[in-house]
Amino acid sequence: MKVCTNCVLPETFPGIQFNKEGKCNFCLDSKSAEIREGRKAEYRKRFASLLKEHKGKSSYDALICYSGGKDSTHTLSVLKKDYSLNVLALSFDNGFVPQQTCDNIRNVVENLGVDHIFFKPRFDVMTKIFCECSRHDIYPPKTLERASTICTSCMSIIKFTALRLALEKDIPFIAFGWSPGQAPITSSIMKNNQQMVKMMQKAVYEPLHRVAGDDIRPYFLEDRHFSDSYHFPYNIHPLAFLEYSEEEIYDNIARLGWEAPTGVDANSTNCLLNSFGNVVHKERFGYNPYAFELANLVREGYLERSTALERLDQPEDPRTVKMVKKKLGIR
Ligand SMILES: [Zn+2]
Repeated sequence: MKVCTNCVLPETFPGIQFNKEGKCNFCLDSKSAEIREGRKAEYRKRFASLLKEHKGKSSYDALICYSGGKDSTHTLSVLKKDYSLNVLALSFDNGFVPQQTCDNIRNVVENLGVDHIFFKPRFDVMTKIFCECSRHDIYPPKTLERASTICTSCMSIIKFTALRLALEKDIPFIAFGWSPGQAPITSSIMKNNQQMVKMMQKAVYEPLHRVAGDDIRPYFLEDRHFSDSYHFPYNIHPLAFLEYSEEEIYDNIARLGWEAPTGVDANSTNCLLNSFGNVVHKERFGYNPYAFELANLVREGYLERSTALERLDQPEDPRTVKMVKKKLGIR
């Protein structure tokens, strides 16, 4: 298969074109390192000034969606230790969190001294959703470029549950551990507003509601949340504007008692369902749902191209895929 000579995007990726040297259009359109560094500095400044305005005003400064993976663990540590924020960590159990990840979450929140909530949505409802997503892509095609349909469903439930909690507890920031490859710096500090949230919720709520009905209601905002008595928080994903390397992340989180789980695929450090989501996506579309993220990381110098290619080529553990299918009742 033809792959960009600069990043790792394959010829099967939607909308890709190559020039004579084999460089893809995404690479040719990318910003220079100098512009990227300037932007990072600008966003760090902006974050610092927002903290001045909001820090200490509520019982928590930030709610973090804490998956227990390497990136969100590092993000949590930075917010607590470097920015001295009072953080509430929220983890979700979709039924496929490895035991080692549960241990990591406990070690990290204990070592950092942060409050933590483990939320487990109804497994029968999740099963319905994951099974349907393994058969059909229920969202617009554009979403498939960045994540499998299964992953998008899980993430949507997490994002809106977190937003609901942040509104109800009046927390000014919701933090995510997105890598700079997963989400661009331009979205790394984003104020939620009623209209945008309404639109975004509708886009995922309707397809999910067709699958699972009113049982998904607790995971989304209700009409009352759109009244003026609630303050909409900022979404932040600080890895986009911080200086770091994968090596530093692993060093830092090891000191907090984090150990890599086994059985997960090469692109997840916290979820076994991800292996199945990847297999379905690759069979259906012929490219790895992590190709886009890893290509960005390579292009921006966070990851060696050879490491990224290895990760994309590494097959999912068939025992994990078998376990997931069995638990979901899929033959
Ligand atoms: Zn490229």
